[in-house]
Amino acid sequence: MSDCIFCKIVNKQIDTKLISETDDYVAFNDISPQAPVHALVIPKKHFSTLNDIDDVELMGKLLNGAKETAEKLGVKDNYRTIINTGAEAGQAVFHIHIHILAGRPLLWPPG
Ligand code: AMP
Ligand code: ZN
Repeated sequence: MSDCIFCKIVNKQIDTKLISETDDYVAFNDISPQAPVHALVIPKKHFSTLNDIDDVELMGKLLNGAKETAEKLGVKDNYRTIINTGAEAGQAVFHIHIHILAGRPLLWPPG
């Protein structure tokens, strides 16, 4: 989608250092980190929310991407993955993404 900030990252219209890139997804650091480690994994193809993504194989690849990203960032033993769906649940960017948070104690339940 032309006005989507994460599509612009995928299409290299916004210069962002990538942690990893495959045919299906990219991972990069969150611009406003909420923990010492805060990365995002996003599909290259645009889907607004978890409710819009209809490719279960891709969904598995994204989750695997989160796991590999945590490993790459050296936090594989303690990290949290989050997908916010809908504005009231905290979603601000409507291109589905998995948050990876780590590097500090994470409270449960989240706020
Ligand atoms: P959410 O609130 O779940 O939609 O998460 C969106 C996340 O994207 C927030 O944590 C933002 O800090 C992050 N974000 C927004 N723009 C950028 C950007 N250009 N590069 C990296 N992260 C971004
Ligand atoms: Zn997009």
